[in-house]
Amino acid sequence: MTTRQLRVDFHTHSRFAISTSPSLDIKTLSEAAKRKGLDVLTTGDFTHPVWRDELKDDLSESGDGLYVSAKGTHFILGTEISCVFKQNDRGRRVHVLVLVPDFRAADALSDRLGELARLESDGRPIIKISALNLALMVWDVDDRSVIIPAHVWTPWYGLLGSKSGFDSIEEAFGEYSDRIRAVESGLSSDPAMNWRIGELDDRAIVSFSDAHSPGTMGREFTVVTSDMTFDGLSAAIQGGGIVETVEFFPENGKYHLNGHRKCNVILEPDETPSDGRCPVCRRPLTLGVVQRIDDLAVRPTQVSMTAGGLIESPDSRPPFRRLVRLNEVLSEASGVGPNTKTVGRTADALVAELGSEFDMLLNASESDIEAASNERVAAAILAVRRGDVEITPGYDGQHGKVTITL
Ligand SMILES: [Zn+2]
Ligand SMILES: [Zn+2]
Repeated sequence: MTTRQLRVDFHTHSRFAISTSPSLDIKTLSEAAKRKGLDVLTTGDFTHPVWRDELKDDLSESGDGLYVSAKGTHFILGTEISCVFKQNDRGRRVHVLVLVPDFRAADALSDRLGELARLESDGRPIIKISALNLALMVWDVDDRSVIIPAHVWTPWYGLLGSKSGFDSIEEAFGEYSDRIRAVESGLSSDPAMNWRIGELDDRAIVSFSDAHSPGTMGREFTVVTSDMTFDGLSAAIQGGGIVETVEFFPENGKYHLNGHRKCNVILEPDETPSDGRCPVCRRPLTLGVVQRIDDLAVRPTQVSMTAGGLIESPDSRPPFRRLVRLNEVLSEASGVGPNTKTVGRTADALVAELGSEFDMLLNASESDIEAASNERVAAAILAVRRGDVEITPGYDGQHGKVTITL
């Protein structure tokens, strides 16, 4: 089978996961993928019995381990599991992405997990099982299945997070850690931050959206070279075929710096009291991703940026670039809200003229963008590509804010 470059987003959800948009069915997911320019998505939430039935109705098998919707979007069967357990005397809460090659595996895994939790109550089920035992179960169901620790640095639910995670992949997975070949960097960290961690030197850093609505799909994604098969994509995202990742500005993420939202306290690691307590209320601060990576890092950040905005490592790991969502770019350029009609109309005109949102945001020429919209919009898109933005960092569950320098 022929290989080509594919944009993949393997952390998505359906309307059956808690706090997701009620519009998230296969038709909406497919339309959003087309509009954004994504080639392969996960179904998300396959352990949910109603959603899995719907997937069986709405998707047809397209080849080895992939499924295709009526609109022509390719899907891989995937889900996120929230593992809640105790290990080495500490309470752990860890989110893990699971990819399986067919409905037989999805059914078998759901049967086994259904003995531990009510799978119909949440598309991203909370299960009392260790991350290791979940992984062993997933591989037992089908040896080709993939386990990827999700948003690995978030204080709550990240495998390496400060609140309920581990200090290493080794600590979590023991003798099976070699089978963990990729981690999801999450919105609050970028690959450069992950390149500082020794244990991640020979592991892939992948980026996906964790979208809870059609508009946020692909806010991060991974570009791979692969054929359209489960095994091809599995090998690609686990290190064999990553071309680059496309990232949120990590400062924008909800857990970038340290702080306390209630007390309005936001601190860089070097401003944080050594006892880790809030200077206002004296309770423990929520330590963000920058602090956590500082604590576990074996080397400082080393990056360089090309003229085209590609951020590279000194030892030729897959590079990455940064992106702001189209509606937010247009909102900045026009001075009106991202969900207004003005922004919607400009976005539609750009997509009609220049292809998908990502083709336009990443590749279209300044003059083509200007012709399809106006000078300010073109300047804003070019500024994002160069990284000319000002950012108020996120902390303690509060999103950061990106302002484009115009
Ligand atoms: Zn999660
Ligand atoms: Zn406080």
